[in-house]
Amino acid sequence: MALGKCIMCGNEADGGLVANTQAIRAIRAIKQKLNMAQNNTLVVCPNCIEIHAKKRKNFENKWAKHAIAAAGIVVFFVFVPPVSGAPFNLASLVLAPMLAGVILLLSVTDYVPPLASAASTQGQATPSQAAQPPAYPMPPPASGAISGKEPPRAAKHSSSRKKKR
Ligand SMILES: [Zn+2]
Repeated sequence: MALGKCIMCGNEADGGLVANTQAIRAIRAIKQKLNMAQNNTLVVCPNCIEIHAKKRKNFENKWAKHAIAAAGIVVFFVFVPPVSGAPFNLASLVLAPMLAGVILLLSVTDYVPPLASAASTQGQATPSQAAQPPAYPMPPPASGAISGKEPPRAAKHSSSRKKKR
């Protein structure tokens, strides 16, 4: 529990922390560029937990459907034509990924971030990974590989070409 701004009702409340997902970071980065950043701690207050869980579930379902549709469009227009021997079509090569991107963007507009506790169980950072020591146990092996002397590259004289007038 943490004090922050509820993402559902907008009230200052003591609630469950919202996970700091890629999407949240991206939104924050954009807002900072626009000087709109409020840097609130984002929470879901106890009153909104249920509706948040519902909306999160809806978003996940929608996102999954959109991702499948987007992948289907790309496969159908980009990967199938060369295999089936269809004539090369630049428009479909360019438009299909764009259309796929638009479909994905449409579902981003009602993005509902997960709670921090829920995100940690989705394997973003498993405890075993977090427990690994960050220090290098061995000197990096690359140092031995580059110890052999290499002849320095001769600088190419761009002015060596003589221009005839
Ligand atoms: Zn709320």
